[in-house]
Amino acid sequence: AKAAGKNRFLRFHPDMMTALVQRTHMEAGLQLAVARGEISVDFQPIVSHRMGQVVTFEALARWDRDGGRVPPSVFIPLAERTGLINEIGTEVMALGMVQLAPWLSEDPSRSLAVNVSGVQLQDPLFAQTVLRLAEASGVAAYQLVLEVTESVFFDADCSLIKQLSSLREEGARVALDDFGTGYSSLGRLQDLPVDTVKIDRTFVSMVRTGNERLPILSSMINMAHSLGLTVTAEGVETAAQADYLAALDCDSLQGYLFSLPQPGRRLENALQQAEEA
Ligand code: C2E
Ligand code: CA
Ligand code: CA
Ligand code: CA
Repeated sequence: AKAAGKNRFLRFHPDMMTALVQRTHMEAGLQLAVARGEISVDFQPIVSHRMGQVVTFEALARWDRDGGRVPPSVFIPLAERTGLINEIGTEVMALGMVQLAPWLSEDPSRSLAVNVSGVQLQDPLFAQTVLRLAEASGVAAYQLVLEVTESVFFDADCSLIKQLSSLREEGARVALDDFGTGYSSLGRLQDLPVDTVKIDRTFVSMVRTGNERLPILSSMINMAHSLGLTVTAEGVETAAQADYLAALDCDSLQGYLFSLPQPGRRLENALQQAEEA
């Protein structure tokens, strides 16, 4: 038994070692990329269904490494574990504000959405940093949307609530990202300091023909509306999905149907494409 245990250890050891080395390697790479300013942002439009206009751009972090792109689903969790998310989050916000400032200044009803990790909200200076960046780039605080997932409220300490509250007092809005995928969902919604819910794309993808009955979608939208919240649907890929959601009075839509996330220099393209969709 002892020998088998030893063998098992020996068999697993190289794999564990490889995984560890790979992770350390990627971590070092990410740290270097952040230091060198190699994290960039793409913007994806969010379209108001009533106005048929782009009202918001969501900034999404990008890391191009050795000619390839490391997906955010890989490097964001890594950044959260190592604390690098604070720097990345600040960089994404700063880049987003600077690149979008001209577009935002043309119309006060336009906004910039950024994803905020729970780790960032633990920083007691978070709200202050956001407001300082906004002021430096000439973006009004009320033109900011902070996208957070339900999980940040799970063991919400008063610091987190304080950060979000002081930003909301300045007019910034909070959106609940990936809505419907968490544990608390509908019941707890009224207790959360949020202005908007973003329905996760797993629900949107349930619409295939547009003729099906999907009470879950209408419940989510009606519930949010009855609480005075606005609703965005993410991952809208087909016209059938857009029509279905519009018929349920979903306020805004986001997804490949309108535009892929685009770099700031192609904002004009994204706008045109999204408003023609
Ligand atoms: P998310 O916030 O839910 O962002 C939406 C994701 O869905 C993006 O993936 C976007 O490119 C993708 N998407 C948009 N429309 C469609 C569609 O029609 N169909 C499909 N299949 N996908 C669509 P991306 O850019 O790979 O980002 C993945 C996740 O990484 C984000 O999910 C967000 O949770 C996280 N993330 C990205 N940038 C940041 C950031 O700056 N800070 C933080 N904390 N998280 C970030
Ligand atoms: Ca988001
Ligand atoms: Ca989302
Ligand atoms: Ca998501």
